Amino acid sequence: MQVAMKSTSPGPGDFFAGVAPVCFCSILLLALAMAGCEAKARNSQAVSNPTPAAANPVPKSHEDLDATLWMRTSAEYHVLAVDTYQRALAAVRSSVKAPAWSALPNQVVALQNPIASEDPKLPAVILDVDETVLDNSQFQVECITSSPFQFSSGGWTEWCNREVATPVPGVIDFVKGCRKMGVAIRYVTNRGNEVRQVTLNNLRKQGLVPDDESAEAELLCKGDQPDWGSDKTSRRDFIAAQFRVVVLIGDDLNDFVRTEDGATPAQRLAVAAGPGTMWGTSWFLLPNANYGGWEKSLVEYRSGLEREACLEMKLQRLQPAEPARTGPEANR
Ligand SMILES: [Mg+2]
Repeated sequence: MQVAMKSTSPGPGDFFAGVAPVCFCSILLLALAMAGCEAKARNSQAVSNPTPAAANPVPKSHEDLDATLWMRTSAEYHVLAVDTYQRALAAVRSSVKAPAWSALPNQVVALQNPIASEDPKLPAVILDVDETVLDNSQFQVECITSSPFQFSSGGWTEWCNREVATPVPGVIDFVKGCRKMGVAIRYVTNRGNEVRQVTLNNLRKQGLVPDDESAEAELLCKGDQPDWGSDKTSRRDFIAAQFRVVVLIGDDLNDFVRTEDGATPAQRLAVAAGPGTMWGTSWFLLPNANYGGWEKSLVEYRSGLEREACLEMKLQRLQPAEPARTGPEANR
């Protein structure tokens, strides 16, 4: 929203074209004051007397602009992603030599109390797909540059069908390193079963799954089996029945642990900070400021919200969660 206001406001340079240098300073001060008043009046009118949508069409969406550019262009994102994968590979390397190591809390207990007749399970890592393994930021670009932006499941399916998502920095070396150590790879994604084949094709084009039928077992989509819903716990349990899961990698809390339906941001935070979590040792989180469970919780998991309603709910979240501090503590 701020970006749209900046781009449509005339700058001081436009106003002063052709003015004699001797009057420049005084006119500049006057013009800045006028511009400030005008902007305040315009903002005030926008809040108290909103213009009907038909007379003031929704501008191109910029809500995801900074997050998308950050992912696509920033050195910071690149370093974070590569570093995360390097630390995850080091954890895999250590875990291979430690038979009681698991990234799943309930499996740790089982490994510490093994049944004598049981053969040790082979190690495996579980990775989410979108914004963990495959970078879909080009889809975000196309959403931003289409106007008005409205996410649709049809548009997302069309994007998946193109099979052109690129690898997240660091993931190729991580997967190669795991395979070299004999560690199995399992991709657990909430992409639906209807895009399973194109997802597999996309992963194969990027060298992330083998070029043979063994790739089929590596991808676990939502709906591949009746009890495989959005909550990934049942798929993690399915994998744990066969493997010792040594590392989890994802960009969403749901890639690591179950969260209650309708969890608020505070409740999600409590889960993330709660007992049994293994951040940085067995659980490795990649940043995703574009979308995810964090965003859904802000709009109370309502799907199909109009853009204005969605923005309004998010703006409400800018209100402080607690009363403002007063007294000596306020300056800390
Ligand atoms: Mg993801």
